[in-house]
Amino acid sequence: MGKFPIFDKIEEELPDDAGIVDTCFEGANIILYTKNEKLFLHSQDLIKSIVDKIKKRVEIRPDQSILMPVSEAEIFIKSKIPAEAELFDIWFDEKRSIVIIEAKKPGYIINSQRGILKEIREKTYWVPKVIRAPGIKSDVIRTIRNTLYKNSEYRRKLLNSIGEKIYSPWERKPNYWVRLSFLGGGRQVGRSCILLQTPESNILLDCGMNVAGTSDFMYPHFEAPEFNINDIDAVILSHSHLDHCGAIPLLFKYGYSGPVYCTKPSRDVSTLILLDAIDISFKDNFKTAFSNNDVKEMIKNTICLDYDVVTDITPDVRMTLHNSGHILGSAMVHLNIGNGFHNVLYTGDMKFAKTKLLNPAVSKFQRVETVVIESTYGASEDIFPEKKDVEQELLDSIIKTIERGGKVIIPVLGTGRAQEILLILDDAIKKKKIPEFPIFLDGMLWNITAVYTAYPSFLNKTLRDKIFKEEEEDPFTSSKFKRVGSQQERMKLVEEEGPCVILATSGMLTGGPSVFYLEKLCDNPKNSLIFVSYQAEGSLGRKLQRGETQILISSNGVKTENMKINLEVITLYGITGHSGRNELMDFIQKMKPMPRRVIINHGEASKCLDLASAIHKTFRIETIAPKNLDAVRIR
Ligand code: ZN
Repeated sequence: MGKFPIFDKIEEELPDDAGIVDTCFEGANIILYTKNEKLFLHSQDLIKSIVDKIKKRVEIRPDQSILMPVSEAEIFIKSKIPAEAELFDIWFDEKRSIVIIEAKKPGYIINSQRGILKEIREKTYWVPKVIRAPGIKSDVIRTIRNTLYKNSEYRRKLLNSIGEKIYSPWERKPNYWVRLSFLGGGRQVGRSCILLQTPESNILLDCGMNVAGTSDFMYPHFEAPEFNINDIDAVILSHSHLDHCGAIPLLFKYGYSGPVYCTKPSRDVSTLILLDAIDISFKDNFKTAFSNNDVKEMIKNTICLDYDVVTDITPDVRMTLHNSGHILGSAMVHLNIGNGFHNVLYTGDMKFAKTKLLNPAVSKFQRVETVVIESTYGASEDIFPEKKDVEQELLDSIIKTIERGGKVIIPVLGTGRAQEILLILDDAIKKKKIPEFPIFLDGMLWNITAVYTAYPSFLNKTLRDKIFKEEEEDPFTSSKFKRVGSQQERMKLVEEEGPCVILATSGMLTGGPSVFYLEKLCDNPKNSLIFVSYQAEGSLGRKLQRGETQILISSNGVKTENMKINLEVITLYGITGHSGRNELMDFIQKMKPMPRRVIINHGEASKCLDLASAIHKTFRIETIAPKNLDAVRIR
């Protein structure tokens, strides 16, 4: 059974008539294909005993030769799915003996009293997997799902080769070590990228772009001597903001061909955001160094994981993603390195408090010695007001603008605050705290919100229950929200529409429709601009926050218009997906177990240093605030 010792161990557990015709890896999972129908249908106990012995995930699938032909199986499956489930599509992944059933209300299939899935297995031998069709039509989800199925053979080979790497023999030598190199995000917010190295593995934690930076400072320090693209074994993406995912396509452009690990929402939303960044760069003066094709390569190489699932990613590193409370699908990355030699937690961006969308970040782990934590709002003055007070302030600012006949522009990052604000507004209108007025979502935002409707299991319990109950209204699909898709629609909105709220990207006014709306609406003092997210140094957003009233706008690199800022500029602190100072300190205090060392990144220098010193003084543990290009040996 192949050259990997693990297969010999599995073979010992199999009955003589197992009829295994093929074995392969799907990443860290081991797949056995059998010709024995009985073994396939009644393999639960056998799998359990194998898993108990080898501590790896094993799946037994039917060999192609025993499957019901596709056309017949399709008719059979369709006849079994109840109409209430709203079947959307059926895909057959023939090489893997899997049938994917996509439905608007998958609960009616999964939880059916009649045991629909069991019946499909028993009659067709296909392995059924049920996925949710998004509540709002989503082209990107369709494109991604298409790309994956079209490249099913490529994926099969890729996943097998990743498995071969993971299962190649490895032994911890006495001089084993672990270190982190900060290629970006050291004492800055932007281009987050950490290289984790052991004698065996080279892993990138995030690989982002600095949206507010000039071209020389836009991407991580790939020129660092310890970085060699050919040695990278895996990339782990914490979440789908550009400052974390924006340079991943570049890796593929430069020849990387390994896996990118993340959650499904992170894969889908980062695809949208990256394609949009390319699109904007053709229109504005901001240029991305990668193309649509590089993004496609990324999709083909992405391996999606749910929270709390432990998986091997290299021979000596085991990874688990945990909810980080920041945006849909955002993850903290836990790495067990060298079989318990050292455990690292990389928080990515995190929120240690419940929001309208998400549960707070997870704080309990089996073991953690080193934490790498963000400090966007890590300074002592970064104390947020009460959530309900900020929400009220948001509603008040909007109402004030609407009542004086103005329009409100809220620049947002695409994912995160945008959807949080939609829920705040939806809730306030339902409870009649505010009158109803039109709420416009510009193009990409609409598409990202569609992704939210496809993955309710990543939302907090309150929201999840609402969506899972099927009969209740999904708040994201509310008819209050209107889509603006084309340039004509944008013009119509600014010229003809009355008082309204417009949510548009980019969040820091570094390009995209938010800048268009600002240009058109900035001279009228009835209008307002509300900042709800972080504005990086160098961005147009930061200039406006500072109170600059004359802004030179450039398009295609040519300085063209002088904008006079007459509209009201409001900054709201506290509607954020980041933890404030108190929440960061609270997180460290509540962490189980208490770490031995905290490394602070993803914050302006003064904030990183301030937080580092506070954590050290309060908890008496080692803290470090590395600069870019610093390397820290952690064990
Ligand atoms: Zn983020």
